[in-house]
Formats: sequence, structure tokens, C-alpha cells
Amino acid sequence: MVNGAPNDDAPLISLRGIRKHYGGEGGQPLVAVLHGIDLDIHAGEFVAVVGSSGSGKSTLMNILGCLDRPSAGCYRFQGQDVARLDADALAWLRRQAFGFVFQGYHLIASESASENVQMPAIYAGLPKDERVRRAQALLARLGLGERLGNRPNQLSGGQQQRVSIARALMNGGHIILADEPTGALDSHSGAEVMALLRELADAGHTIILITHDRAVAAQARRVIEISDGRIVGDSARGDSTDGSVRLPLAPRPRNAAAAPWLAELLEAARGAWRGMRLNRVRTSLTLLGIVIGVASVIVMLAIGEGARRKVVEQMGTMGTAILYMGSKPPATGGPAGQITEDDLAALRELPEIRRVMPVIGDPVTVRYGNADKQIYVFAASEEMPLVHRWRPALGRYYTEAEDRGLAPLVVLGHKAHRHFFPDTPDPLGRQLIIGNSAFEVIGVMSERGAESGAQDYDDMVFIPYRSGRARVYQAQTQPDYVVIEARSAQVVHAAEEAMRRLLIARHGGREDFGIGNAAARIQAEAATRESMAVMLGLIAAVSLVVGGIGVMNVMLMTVRERTREIGIRMAVGARQGDILRQFLTEASLVTLVGGLAGLLAGLAVGVVLIVSGVPVVFSVRAMLGAFACAVATGLVFGYMPARTAARLDPVRALAGE
Ligand code: ADP
Ligand code: MG
Repeated sequence: MVNGAPNDDAPLISLRGIRKHYGGEGGQPLVAVLHGIDLDIHAGEFVAVVGSSGSGKSTLMNILGCLDRPSAGCYRFQGQDVARLDADALAWLRRQAFGFVFQGYHLIASESASENVQMPAIYAGLPKDERVRRAQALLARLGLGERLGNRPNQLSGGQQQRVSIARALMNGGHIILADEPTGALDSHSGAEVMALLRELADAGHTIILITHDRAVAAQARRVIEISDGRIVGDSARGDSTDGSVRLPLAPRPRNAAAAPWLAELLEAARGAWRGMRLNRVRTSLTLLGIVIGVASVIVMLAIGEGARRKVVEQMGTMGTAILYMGSKPPATGGPAGQITEDDLAALRELPEIRRVMPVIGDPVTVRYGNADKQIYVFAASEEMPLVHRWRPALGRYYTEAEDRGLAPLVVLGHKAHRHFFPDTPDPLGRQLIIGNSAFEVIGVMSERGAESGAQDYDDMVFIPYRSGRARVYQAQTQPDYVVIEARSAQVVHAAEEAMRRLLIARHGGREDFGIGNAAARIQAEAATRESMAVMLGLIAAVSLVVGGIGVMNVMLMTVRERTREIGIRMAVGARQGDILRQFLTEASLVTLVGGLAGLLAGLAVGVVLIVSGVPVVFSVRAMLGAFACAVATGLVFGYMPARTAARLDPVRALAGE
């Protein structure tokens, strides 16, 4: 059947020389429990194994049910040597062939009667609606049709035992192994359970009943007596059928991938959710690390991005190749220098430099008709639109020739246009009085928008540098400052050095000017931001690790608390992989919830920051990344506890050790 040649004449179960001992290693005393059991059981038999307490009945049953392996001897199931089966094959055999009924019922306390009954079918891969229907039918047949949703603690002992019988029948229950099924019941409920077992035997199920009570044993068709690990009596073989009856077992799946992982995953997630709700305080404390980690990643990246955008905005669209220069008293003392037209002409000759734009700007009274206003009058060379990467929306900008010819021309900023000509969409050709001179409007700049820089360029007017000096800023002997554009961002430093050398030479060895490097400022800020990001990344990583250790701790506790549940799941046929997946799912569900909470906390903090004026830009990628990290933490730190659970020995787990 499993593999190897089928043997049609073999009994269903055949034990030869089965021995079992405990201990014997690590200084523990060797306890021999079974001393060579020979036993054949045929399909359809109703066998009672009777013996006093401690005689080895349960040990025998665990071996028969493939929950435990014998220390010596041979167990053949339908002719197949069970010793050759691996853990998954044994799980398959338990799932398909056996149904267990225990003295202590062994129901899962947190699940309803119907869910308890369905469990073997989940591991067998039965679709959900079929599973639910079958569990209902079985429970109804056993008189529990009204109790489907009850938890075990809402049922009497007799009812709980009937639920466990329904569970044993869920996957067919070809062989029912009942260990003291009436041991914990009053005589009436006990009689009911025995009547049920007799009914099942009549219906063709093979029943192996284990009891210390001779009166109970007498109800079976064959009674085997066991004493001190030896069979000391066997009533004549009963009315059993011939050996050729074979169990119609569902085929064993070839590979683990064929397992119904989605149903199991949902099942595990449901169980995990339930467990988390039961342990709300513990779970939320554990999750703090994950929440803080995820929230800090999200908030800090958002702040970093906000800061970066703000810098870029402040720099305008001027790029990273811009230098500023102005006269300034030298550090060694003495008067500030004079930046002359010849200095500017010499600077223009430097190979690293593309443009040199002198600027004079001050608030000046500007008039049109009756309207006048103090407005910033920006006098610069015709290169202003190129340096600022800005275009007129209407009309044109002045040319170099016009600048040289001291032409009285003015280009308006967007707001200046609205202020002086609110009703004139096209003010070209009108005359503005700036200071005491008339300037002709030849253009209107496009709207530059709210820049967070010191000046609002939309609220200015622009005039040629030379006519500005001649007509408005007569007292000015040199530019307020000079904007220099290097050929590229790469040569900015070289340009700065070349300028400094040239001007020092021209100024008789005195450094009576200052050079501001916008590119250097951006680079410095970028470096600061980067080191901040690294630090925050470390904080986040540490809190995720701490959170992960918390999750591992809680999962280890969970595994300990639920050892018996794990044993029950194994007895009804869960593979090791099923148990592993269940606890991994629980761990990652915990961290998933933590990740979600962290995400919400991060967003909330971000919103508070935005409201209080801190520039914050959320990044979806950062959120997804932080979230994925949280789930990965669950998988990594949940693995060890889940593996511990999966490797539990079914018998010891059932005993709750
Ligand atoms: P029964 O079910 O007939 O009452 P058991 O099969 O449970 O008896 O136990 C038989 C003997 O084996 C007992 O003496 C018990 O102490 C011993 N025994 C059972 N399990 C273990 C174990 N895990 N380690 C050591 N001794 C054990
Ligand atoms: Mg026992």
C-alpha cells in the first residue's frame, strides 16, 4: 500500500516481538514497559485490551496508532513495515487510517465542537464547505446537532467524548483507537459511549478499546489481557473477517507541495488571531519594538525627504553649479574690496566659468499712474533668465546690446504685473516710473510660484544692470553680489579656486571678497542627511531586532502553553510541516499587526508634524519596505519556536510535557 509489495493475506495490524523501553540514556534509569508483544488484529474486529494500571496499555496504543515507535520488534500495517515510514508518512497513516479517542477527550479548548471535529479534514485537504457539512452530519448523528458552536468547556464530559468520537470519524475512522474512553465519565455517559463504539463496530469499523475495567472489556468481541508488558490472555479470535479486507485509504500525496496550503494558511491565521486576542496585553507589549521600528523608519524617511525637497526648493531651479561672490573686509583687517567691471570681465575668461551675472537689488518706490509701491527692483545682466532657468510668459527679456546701451526697459514679475496693471492683461509698452526715471514694460515673467527662499521673485521688477546703475542706483559703485555659474556641478570647486586665485592676484594679494558655494552647501546637507539616515536606520534595525526577540519569546511561550494542542494536531494527522507553517503564520501575523500599527503610528506622527509646519514627504516605498521588514522579522524570529513545535514528539506533546 504505502510502498513495497502489497500482501493481501496479511492482517490489518501485525505486531511481532514489540518491545518498548524508556530512558537508558543520560544517566536515566532504563524502564522496560513492553516485553515482546505478538499480536494480529484483522479488519473489522472489535478488540479490547484490558490490564491493570501501569501494565503498558497506553504505550501499546501509542505504538499501534503510530504516535510512537517501538524500541524493538516489527509492526506491519497491511503487510507494510511501519519502521520504514518517515514522519510525514506516519502522519498520513494517522490521518487516513486511525481515529483516536482519549480518556481526557483532548479537544482544543479555544475551538468550537464543529471546528474540533473538522480538524483532521483540514490536514487531509478536504474543501471547507464539505468539511463543515460532514462535521455537522457527524455531530448530528451523535446527538450534538445543537452544540456545533459550543466550546469544550460548554459541554459535559459525555458530550465532549462524543465530539472526540466524531473527530475520530471525520476522515473515515477505519480504525478507532480508544484509550479508556469511559474512564472519566459517569456510568450513564459511559454506557452511551460504549453503545456508540458497538454501533461503529457493527458498521464495520475496526475498534481497539483500551481499558482497565473488565466489565467494559467484556462488551468487545475479543478481549486481550495484558500484564506487565506481556500479553497473558487472548479470548478466541472473534468473528473477524478474512484478511483480504483492505482499508480504502486515500492515496498519500507524493510531495509536500500538494498539501492544501491556502486552507491551512487561513486556518493558521484564524487560530493565530484568536490566540492574539486571548493574550491581548502580552501581544501588544511584544509588538512595541516592531511598532516603534516601523514607525521610526517611516517618520524619519519622511522627514529626510521633506528636508531634501526644501533644500532643492530653496535653491530654486538654479542647479548645483552656482557660486555667489561679493566684496567683504578681509579677515586680516582693512576695507572691503571693490569688484570692478574689469574683475567681472576677467572672471568671464576663466575656462571653468560659464556665466557671470552682477546683481543690484533694493526696495525702490515704483509708480504707475496713481498707484505706487515699494518694490524690489532687481538690476542684473540679460543672463538672468538663463541663470534662474526662468522664461518670460509675455513679451521678451532685454538683450545684452540694450543693457550696454542703457535702455530704460523693465520686465515685471507675475505679482508686480497684477499690482500695477490689475485690469490690463497685456501691459507691454506702458511706462513705469522707477525712482525718478520712466521704464518701458517689455515683458512679464511666468509665475515662479511660492518658493520658500528669502525673496519672492514674483513680486519684483527686473531692469538691465547698466541702466539700473545709471538711472536708479546711481550711488552704487559695485554690484551687491555676483552670481557665477560654473560649467558643470563637477567643476564647481575648481571654479571657486580659480576665481579666488584670480581675484587675489587682481586685488593686490588681498582676499577682500567672499565666495559662497551653493553646491557645497547642498552637498554638505546631503551628507548630513545621509549620516542621519544611517543612524535612524540603525535605530529602526535595533528596534526590529528587539521586537523580533520579543516575538520569539512569546512564540516560545505559546508553544509551551499549547504543547497539548500540538500533540492533538499531530494525532489527527498534522505533518511536521503543518505545525511549522502554523506557528510561522502566527509569528508573522503578530508582526504583520505590529507593522500595521507602526505604519499607522508613523502616519499619525507625520500628520502632527505637517500640522506643526515641519516639511514631511511620505514615501510609499519606505512604508512598504518597513512593513516587509516587520513581516520578515516575524518569519526569522518565529522560525526557531515553530521548528521547536514541529519537532515535538507526539506522545510527549499529548501528555502536555
Ligand atoms: P497504562 O496505560 O497501562 O496504565 P502506560 O502504558 O501508560 O500504562 O505505562 C506503562 C509504564 O510505562 C508505567 O509504569 C509508566 O510509568 C511507564 N512509562 C510510560 N511512559 C513513560 C515515559 N515517557 N518515561 C518513562 N516511563 C514511562
Ligand atoms: Mg493508560
